[in-house]
Amino acid sequence: MDRLAAARVGAAASAGVCALVAGAVLAQCVLAARRRTGRKTKIIDMMPEFQRSSVHIKNPTRVEEILCGLIKGGAAKLQIITDFDMTLSRFSHEERRCPTCHNVIDNCKLVSDECRKKLLQLKEKYYAMKLIPHLSIEQKSPYMVEWYTKSHGLLVEQAIPKDKLREIVAESDIMLKEGYETFFDKLHEHSIPLFIFSAGIGDVLEEVIRQAGVYHSNVKVVSNFMDFDETGVLKGFKGELIHVFNKHDGALKNTEYFTQLKDNSNIILLGDSQGDLRMADGVANVEHVLKIGYLNDRVDELLDKYMDSYDIVLVKDESLEVANSILQKIL
Ligand code: C5P
Ligand code: MG
Repeated sequence: MDRLAAARVGAAASAGVCALVAGAVLAQCVLAARRRTGRKTKIIDMMPEFQRSSVHIKNPTRVEEILCGLIKGGAAKLQIITDFDMTLSRFSHEERRCPTCHNVIDNCKLVSDECRKKLLQLKEKYYAMKLIPHLSIEQKSPYMVEWYTKSHGLLVEQAIPKDKLREIVAESDIMLKEGYETFFDKLHEHSIPLFIFSAGIGDVLEEVIRQAGVYHSNVKVVSNFMDFDETGVLKGFKGELIHVFNKHDGALKNTEYFTQLKDNSNIILLGDSQGDLRMADGVANVEHVLKIGYLNDRVDELLDKYMDSYDIVLVKDESLEVANSILQKIL
């Protein structure tokens, strides 16, 4: 071997050793960093949807464990329990706020300007109360009842006809989150029960998903449904009021549905409010629950609280990509 060749071999060998050493050091650093942060994750580290800056997870190890449980259980054991407004529907689009189910009616042309003004005043007052971080759910509940009672009363005064609902929804700015087709279609394809539990207005919600072409047979909607008189004019709301902070007894009030699903012991729960966290309370035979929470508003003030209570927090995320990526792993 000439000197040049020998030098090349030597250089290559030392580069190889360097690379090996660097690799080992890097691996040690990663391991040490993971030990420091308590991270020992495999699945979520490999999922690009989890690398986005909108995704916040306080305890990745716990999320990893739940995900493993969900993947192991597969389609047969899975069910979804989700909120609607600002969870399946968008909070904003192109820098403009999107309406809730209630706002779809509030903003429609059949409601007088005077009534709209009153509804807006109520919303400003009670929406702020809904978000006060230092008040408990129990303390906030009576104010929510007050809000719903007053706003529903105002809507009844407007004598809304049932047969105008389709048009009202079609003309509104309500939008489902990006990726909704995949979300609804995949769940339907694999016969996964999808329970939409909403403190919004059931008639509006159903019309939204019907018009979007995703009201499949696996979907069950529990919400506040309008009651119409014999001429088809709004006269009130049926049954017991569902407001943002009384969702904890939903499963108990829908025992027939959940008894049928006693083998679906793995739950993905999606919500945007602190009240949504308790939507799976009372479901018998629960193995794993993964709680995904959208944090849309007052992020600085609420992020810690959301990270303490939801397993995965999605900040200002107008898509269902994270949920879809999880479904892709399970199904
Ligand atoms: O589907 P979800 O349970 O989120 O529906 C409740 C939503 O409806 C809440 O976000 C609440 O702010 C909103 N709401 C409203 N007007 C009312 C009562 C509730 O926009 N009068
Ligand atoms: Mg909501």
